[in-house]
Amino acid sequence: MAKRIAFIGLGNMGSGMAANLVAHGHKVEAFDLDTAALGRAKLAGCGVHTSINAALDSADVVVTMLPDGKIVRSVYQNDVLKWAPRDALFIDCSTIDVASAHAVIAMAGTHGHPMVDAPVSGGITAAKNGTLTFMVGGSDAAFAAAQPILSAMGAAVVHAGGDGAGQAAKICNNMLLGATMVATSEAFAMAEKLGLDLQAFYDISSKSSGQSWSMTSYCPVPGVGPVTPADNDYEGGFTSALMLKDLRLAMAAAAESGANVPMGHRAAELYEAFVSAGNAGKDFSAIIKTLRK
Ligand code: NAD
Repeated sequence: MAKRIAFIGLGNMGSGMAANLVAHGHKVEAFDLDTAALGRAKLAGCGVHTSINAALDSADVVVTMLPDGKIVRSVYQNDVLKWAPRDALFIDCSTIDVASAHAVIAMAGTHGHPMVDAPVSGGITAAKNGTLTFMVGGSDAAFAAAQPILSAMGAAVVHAGGDGAGQAAKICNNMLLGATMVATSEAFAMAEKLGLDLQAFYDISSKSSGQSWSMTSYCPVPGVGPVTPADNDYEGGFTSALMLKDLRLAMAAAAESGANVPMGHRAAELYEAFVSAGNAGKDFSAIIKTLRK
């Protein structure tokens, strides 16, 4: 059933996601602090608003896609809880710290709003094509209410568990991704030093016990494996800045929960150094350049 959806945060990801909601017949009312983002939303068929309360007016559902936990907390506390209609469902798709997800869902609950944390896997292209994977935390009832909305924006919608479980799944997954990208990159770099042909190494390892998504779907070596950001001078994928953001969230969650994550910790250190050296905007697979030297 078509819903009236307030969409807050129409950046690289949110703009494509909102366009897919429009394509599925929903009435999307957009708000962003950036006028260029609002311009893109208008082109995608959204109603656009320069005040957040106008976007939230009469909303059945509120979707947020914002940069970090501090902003998410502030937007819900200062605006969404103030202006959204009484029974509106809240869906936060941003990648944020688990503690902020718990805090915002608890705040929503005290005001009677069902809410899920629903971070995504997949980048800008998946957001545009409606092929994101959503990992969702929240009650069974909140998940059931959010599922049809999320399905309009993604190819897979998985209920990870209770409040905050979506964020927990996201940072565990991305910590694994960061570590496997470093490990895959160093294996290619060592293969090269040992005189192996890198295509031959790919042909062997991609069918052997060393294979991973970082190798077979996102190979960091140009000209080897499928077409990836490596074939475009490491432009246009998942930036190293965003990988570092997720690894920092993972390290904070590990410290809070007492988890022992030596590989994740080392990956975080390597991406800290890589980003500090001026590579924030490069795809995260470009870390191989530091290892091939
Ligand atoms: P982005 O910076 O392109 O977009 C964020 C948008 O939020 C911007 O348009 C900004 O103007 C807006 N914004 C900031 N503060 C606001 C406020 N107070 N009120 C209204 N709008 C506000 O970021 P993005 O790449 O779209 O990422 C969004 C989220 O998705 C992040 O949490 C990121 O970690 C996560 N994510 C991104 C990717 C990716 O490939 N880009 C992949 C997976 C997850």
